[in-house]
Amino acid sequence: MRTLGRRLVFIACLVNIAVLIFLLAVIGRVPDPRLRVLAAVIIIAAMIIESLIILWLIANQQRVVSDLTTQVLRLSSPKDARRIILPDNHAYADLAQAINMAADELRHQSHVFQRQENELDNLLEYLPVGVIVIDRRRMTQLLNPMAAQLLEINVDSKPHLYTADVRQYDLTEQIEGTMRDHQNVRQTLTLQLPTSPRTLEVSTIYTEPRPDHQQVLVLLYDLTEVTQIEQMQLDFVSNASHELKTPLTAIAGFTETLLAGAKNDPEKRDEFLKIIDDQSHELMDLIEDVLSVSRLQNPVSQTATITTVDLRTLVERQLTLQAQSIQRRALHVTNSVPESARVETDAKKLEQIIKNLISNAIKYNRHAGQLAVTFHSSSDHGWQLSVKDTGYGIAKDQQSRIFERFYRGDPSRNKQRIPGTGLGLAIVHELTTLLKGEVSVQSQMDVGTTMTISFPK
Ligand code: ADP
Repeated sequence: MRTLGRRLVFIACLVNIAVLIFLLAVIGRVPDPRLRVLAAVIIIAAMIIESLIILWLIANQQRVVSDLTTQVLRLSSPKDARRIILPDNHAYADLAQAINMAADELRHQSHVFQRQENELDNLLEYLPVGVIVIDRRRMTQLLNPMAAQLLEINVDSKPHLYTADVRQYDLTEQIEGTMRDHQNVRQTLTLQLPTSPRTLEVSTIYTEPRPDHQQVLVLLYDLTEVTQIEQMQLDFVSNASHELKTPLTAIAGFTETLLAGAKNDPEKRDEFLKIIDDQSHELMDLIEDVLSVSRLQNPVSQTATITTVDLRTLVERQLTLQAQSIQRRALHVTNSVPESARVETDAKKLEQIIKNLISNAIKYNRHAGQLAVTFHSSSDHGWQLSVKDTGYGIAKDQQSRIFERFYRGDPSRNKQRIPGTGLGLAIVHELTTLLKGEVSVQSQMDVGTTMTISFPK
């Protein structure tokens, strides 16, 4: 800028001095008035040319200044910034280069920032933890999709109070506490949500990223499934103990009675021995279930020994083995599996599957109900075996859960307590999967249930 000013003044001075000398020389010596007029005209022309040169130089400088100003203004959005190229000897060459370098650096910084922002967005999008950021005016600054899913709300991008997202009293109280006391809190809350209750581990963290800018960070971690599994395992321990205790008490009681003298009465002895025998079998079945589950964890038992199985005979044997329970419930049983039905599978595993399905169809049947076993096979779709009962049925919301380990149907839906550990169908599911088949349920409350195992061709 200084060089330019100096050059302008220098040119102007040179022109002016030359014009003045010329004027003095010419006008002084010329006696002819016409010539003096000519001299005056030349002076005026020289002055005009001088002014034009100065104007052109100034306009040129102004264009460069305006380009540089635009470039500086564009620094705020580095994507639009263009480089300014000036010749090395240009008055503004250094300034243009400095602005270009600043623009390059800003563009680089902006890329890094953009990339980090995208990474953070991605992280928040897929993070399996709900994240909410609330500022001191109680406005939601950020709410990731997981938080929306856990609280069963929609993500609202417009500025709004956090209470529009968090409608549960316990959670609001924890957030308000952290905001008021500047204390971090971590606790497990069971929140009542529109579809079902959900157990969450909630951490509220007080932060002050800048002076005078307080925030509460809310982290939500879903513990619903873990809590359910813990509860099911607790139930299993209590159920299993109960199931073990009942037959053992009967066995101990009747053995004592026999020893105390009943053994001498042949009629009583036979009756009591029969009860002891029944109870021992129940005990063994229960232990077999528990062992099956632990055996299924073992990779050795994950292999199947395939043979040709006579399906009707296998079903018949299970019905005979469970004949007493069938009689006790006065069930009407039909085995419609054709005599010709032969399938290629692991006989032992299939027998265990069928045993559990028939046992449930007896246990959960009504008195004098029906129990039907049917078989269907086709060259395209392989074969299916169904065990149908006319019992209590399984509520829709429970149907997806009955194949989980330790899951037992809600006992309040049945009038009486039915013994069980919640392992039978889990074993059925794991064994059918192992044999490359699948198990499905069709059920209607108070009408009955059909359990079907299907194996592809
Ligand atoms: P368990 O019979 O020991 O409880 P299962 O795994 O065999 O365990 O079954 C899980 C739950 O599924 C049962 O508690 C019961 O509520 C339900 N269930 C299974 N089979 C039937 C059926 N045939 N009819 C009605 N409910 C059934």
